[in-house]
Amino acid sequence: MNKSSVIIIGASHAAAEACLALRLQGWTGRIIVVGEESYLPYHRPPLSKDYFQGKLAADKLPIKSSAQYESADIEFKLGQRVTKIDRNTSSIKLESGETLAYTKLILATGTRARPLPTGDCELPNLYSLRTLDDVKSIRSNLDTGKKLLIIGAGYIGLELAASAVKKGIQVTVLESMDRVLARVTCAVVSEFYRDMHKNEGVDLRFNVVIDRFEKKSTGETSVILGDGLRLYFDCVVAGIGVVPNSELAIDADIDCDNGITVDQYTQTSDKDIYAIGDCSNHPNLFYKRQVRLESVPNAIGQAKSSAASICGTAIAYQQLPWFWSDQYNVKLQTAGLFNDYDKAVVRGNIEERKFSVFYLKNGELIAIDSINSPAEFMLAKRFIPKRIKLSEKDITNMTLSSKALFSLS
Ligand code: FAD
Repeated sequence: MNKSSVIIIGASHAAAEACLALRLQGWTGRIIVVGEESYLPYHRPPLSKDYFQGKLAADKLPIKSSAQYESADIEFKLGQRVTKIDRNTSSIKLESGETLAYTKLILATGTRARPLPTGDCELPNLYSLRTLDDVKSIRSNLDTGKKLLIIGAGYIGLELAASAVKKGIQVTVLESMDRVLARVTCAVVSEFYRDMHKNEGVDLRFNVVIDRFEKKSTGETSVILGDGLRLYFDCVVAGIGVVPNSELAIDADIDCDNGITVDQYTQTSDKDIYAIGDCSNHPNLFYKRQVRLESVPNAIGQAKSSAASICGTAIAYQQLPWFWSDQYNVKLQTAGLFNDYDKAVVRGNIEERKFSVFYLKNGELIAIDSINSPAEFMLAKRFIPKRIKLSEKDITNMTLSSKALFSLS
């Protein structure tokens, strides 16, 4: 039994893709996936959307079937946490005390929800929304007419708000900044989402400071805000961002900086150890800087790249970042990273809920947010890496079709 082994730590999107890609690319040794959660890898995006609303059953969540893993001879160790990487002996240690030796190791440990500071108050009905078990617990606390308090107006908070009001739940969202989605989009898109949620009946509050939580002996729970206002709730969900699970790598003296640092081949500072998905901080060849992304397409792309590197046909990971969010009947699709833009140009009709925001830097298209405009998103995704230049006059010219607009470049 002296067969070479790839061990993957974490059993989610990145791991599901990496284990099968390793087989496809010719790895003949053992492939062992160790995951802390007790489920086979499952789709997380529906957790705040169709699964929460009850439109998608739990049996539709797995990314691949157990038969697909069996036929590729993938071994799973689920419900088991890895506690240590020993680089001297090329082995990992599980919480159970078991030790497993690796030839190559892939860290696909993802992120965990940032905890909410609640002071001394222990809240039995406080949740994050990261795992299937989280959503099961949240759903069991909520029914039509119940009060849900969401802290944080990012993607997850807003998707949950949209799903919950649809179920007749009373939703309040508290945001510390002055607009929704402030970290990921411009003010025009933020205002669009704010108005949409308000029209649907979500109580959105901005610039909120949380003073403290209180739990009465009757079990009633409330939050007291900085201005003294008290809000009662049946359930509170914190959506205030995530923290990369880098501790195993840090303890093993692997380079880390906001995630586990890797090169364009997903290799860490140890040549036998790779890091992929939400936990990896990697070079983006288009924007020429290190980034840590939280998206399924990134997890899948990096998984394929790590499998190729391990199998000896290294392919640099150079996918343009892209994201999506579904709220009510509105699909937001984002291509590229908008952060450094100097001009945002709107094309289309905001009232009709069909428009795109083109982000330009020195006239060059660096990112796009498309609302119910999939064709513009697809074209932008293809053309942004070509570093195209577009003028404001052409972008706003609706007599030009999207295709004609992009072919001007
Ligand atoms: P993760 O999915 O975070 O999985 C990491 C796994 O590793 C976890 O199961 C964790 O328990 C396990 N693990 C960590 N440490 C250890 C250890 N020491 N031992 C064993 N196991 C360990 N992305 C999109 O692109 N579009 C969307 O619409 C979208 N919606 C989302 C909605 C929700 C509610 C959530 C939570 C996420 C959403 N995302 C979305 C983000 C997307 O799910 C993540 O980008 C993706 O899951 C990243 O996959 P990953 O494999 O890198 O990490």
